[in-house]
Amino acid sequence: MPSEFDLIRQYFTRPTPSALLGVGDDAALLQISPGMELAVSVDMLVEGRHFAPQDGPGTVGHKSLAVNLSDMAAMGARPRWATLALALPAADEKWLRGFAGGFFGLAGKFGVELIGGDTTRGPLNICIQIMGEVPSGKALRRDGAKAGDEIWVSGVLGTAALALAFRQGRVELDQMEAAACLPALYVPQPRVALGLSLCDIATAAIDVSDGLLADLGHILEQSGVGAEIHFETLPLHEVVRRHIELDAVKNCTLAGGDDYELCFTAPVTRHAELLALSQKLALPLTCIGRIVGGAGLAVLDGKGGPMPVNAKGFDHFA
Ligand code: ADP
Ligand code: MG
Repeated sequence: MPSEFDLIRQYFTRPTPSALLGVGDDAALLQISPGMELAVSVDMLVEGRHFAPQDGPGTVGHKSLAVNLSDMAAMGARPRWATLALALPAADEKWLRGFAGGFFGLAGKFGVELIGGDTTRGPLNICIQIMGEVPSGKALRRDGAKAGDEIWVSGVLGTAALALAFRQGRVELDQMEAAACLPALYVPQPRVALGLSLCDIATAAIDVSDGLLADLGHILEQSGVGAEIHFETLPLHEVVRRHIELDAVKNCTLAGGDDYELCFTAPVTRHAELLALSQKLALPLTCIGRIVGGAGLAVLDGKGGPMPVNAKGFDHFA
């Protein structure tokens, strides 16, 4: 049987050239760059809650880091270092190899180094802390939206939620449709490059992890403003669009979690610049509405009338 230290050495010890000290001591040592602030966030993924026992370990490794990278993107921070606290039911080396492959595959893509962690026995639980750098005073917070700002989202909405609904047998998709949607659920792509570019453009930002209504709602609440969004303008995957008349699918677009796209606000004067940025990043950026004075979020239909929306974003304790 490999020991705890064998597992750490074999699966979680990689070179960490950008840390003063990485895995192996009582703590890692980091030097942050001059003129930068440290952005820190942590996310826990619990088996049975955030992923299923039958999910491939590579996708679990990818997704557990991706959700953290998405938080850095939403702050406009450049992700740099991560720590990983793992509870494992057993020293299953096949699982660990797959998990580490997914984790380090994504970490390498964004230049993120694993600098420490903790490994214990227990029900499968993955807790990743991410640290990133953002130029002082430039972070994308939730509280900066102003009346008159436009509301934008990246990518498409509802694909991951549709994939989950399919997996849970709540919606039927054919094989091609399922194959087109499942990657959004299992291997989300954090919008790090977009976040970095938005530091000088956006007034507020959040990543869409609990659904558009809930997450945009957080911006509105923290900024003390209201909003109007136009349902017809929401960017949708073609499979989502094909089934949009089903209430369950409509609900995916407004309240479906796990998209990890960015929702942000920006002054109208930056509209053309954002369209150019969309081209440069080869990532759709869509203006879906406007910030207004007052409070609350109105969803408008094709004729400009209010849509009866009862869809609430996902809430673990609702
Ligand atoms: P301590 O007894 O100080 O908590 P540990 O024995 O838990 O130290 O860990 C030894 C070293 O291995 C530490 O540097 C710790 O950060 C690192 N480490 C432990 N588990 C992991 C992991 N899953 N991923 C990365 N580093 C880890
Ligand atoms: Mg420890």
